[in-house]
Amino acid sequence: MDVLVMGAGVGGLAVARGLLAAGHRVRVYEQAPGRRTSGAALTIFTNGHAVLNDLGVSLDGVGGRVDRIDAMTSDGRLRTRVSVAHAADRFGFDTKAISRRDLLDRLADGLPDDLIQYGVGCRSVTQDDGQVTATFSDGSTAKADLLIGADGHHSVVRRQLWGDGTVQPATFGTWQGLSAIDIPLTHSHLSLMITGREGACGLMPAGDGMLQWWFDVRWSPTDPRPMAPLAELRRRFGHWASPVPEVLAAASEDDLNFFGHHWNKVRRVWGEGRITLLGDAAHTMPPTLGQGANQTLEDVWVLMRELAKGGADPAVRLRAYEKARYPHISLVSGMARRNPANWRIPPLIGRLFPETSQTTMLIRYSNRLSAPAAKPL
Ligand SMILES: Cc1cc2nc3c(=O)[nH]c(=O)nc-3n(C[C@H](O)[C@H](O)[C@H](O)COP(=O)(O)OP(=O)(O)OC[C@H]3O[C@@H](n4cnc5c(N)ncnc54)[C@H](O)[C@@H]3O)c2cc1C
Repeated sequence: MDVLVMGAGVGGLAVARGLLAAGHRVRVYEQAPGRRTSGAALTIFTNGHAVLNDLGVSLDGVGGRVDRIDAMTSDGRLRTRVSVAHAADRFGFDTKAISRRDLLDRLADGLPDDLIQYGVGCRSVTQDDGQVTATFSDGSTAKADLLIGADGHHSVVRRQLWGDGTVQPATFGTWQGLSAIDIPLTHSHLSLMITGREGACGLMPAGDGMLQWWFDVRWSPTDPRPMAPLAELRRRFGHWASPVPEVLAAASEDDLNFFGHHWNKVRRVWGEGRITLLGDAAHTMPPTLGQGANQTLEDVWVLMRELAKGGADPAVRLRAYEKARYPHISLVSGMARRNPANWRIPPLIGRLFPETSQTTMLIRYSNRLSAPAAKPL
């Protein structure tokens, strides 16, 4: 088939790889002038890593391996301990914190040079029984058999299918950075999630001497932006137990980015006819479970499996893809909305949680890991 993909982020690049490998003709349109290089690091859990492997994308030599996540109180006591190495042992794919730039580079590696048109944003999409047509910011159009809206959380394709106002702000926002911070944690395989009255702090080794760090604070879109955000973070979190003060002392204003959390209710059917959505376009969620990109990769894995079944009407396969994803993605999205990363679980209760609970949840979140005989694409 001839397929148009809107957006060359995590989902757009991943689905382009899968489609090309399956023998389809693919054209990708990206509104930004080039590949994104900002955005700090993402956590690719066992489920996302397994899909990347199926797509022929290796994470060898990039990022930092994470074996364990310790949830701590702001005064340094252990709330609960989670093993992520357990899922890696069971399924053969470890959890890695990897910069967005490295992930996008690995996804794009080996794709034909003329596959992606940069600086061309999708403005509208239409379809009749046999074809879809996309119209772009430069006035040009493209026609194809299928169209995939992988255009992220402000998706134009979703807006056209669902109308306006479906994505709402969630309760928190994240200040984050990826910095060379030389503390023991940076060189370990341990991630810390620290919660207190002032908000939450996450720290994760991202390889090559880099530490991924973030602070979650209550947020609404009408809040004024602080004039000096790093000074504000130091004022708010600087008294927390080590290593938070060391991280704040070493961080620089240049490393800092802010993202307000957003969420949309996942629909059972999210596409129409020969058009479907993928990734944040279909399921924007707060980053509190670190599953956004992983779930985007899960979308790609299921979509590829459905398209491989063939049949006269591709719309049938697109609806089957959405149906197969719904139970998993609605669970993840609902959980992420409840902001578990910011829960202040008392240590006495937290220590009762089994360290393997992450594996159980990952399997429930994942089409790939819960498939009876998960086969490579
Ligand atoms: C602070 C923060 C931390 C996160 N941490 C994690 C994490 O640890 N682990 C994890 O799994 N996920 C994480 N996520 C979520 C993750 O970044 C997203 O879920 C993931 O990038 C979604 O991929 P996507 O392809 O759907 O969207 P994107 O990666 O956002 O790509 C969408 C692309 O579409 C392009 N585009 C937009 N509009 C148009 C248009 N009209 N026409 C053409 N192109 C267009 C954009 O420029 C962009 O390149 C985090 C998100 C945030 C905000």
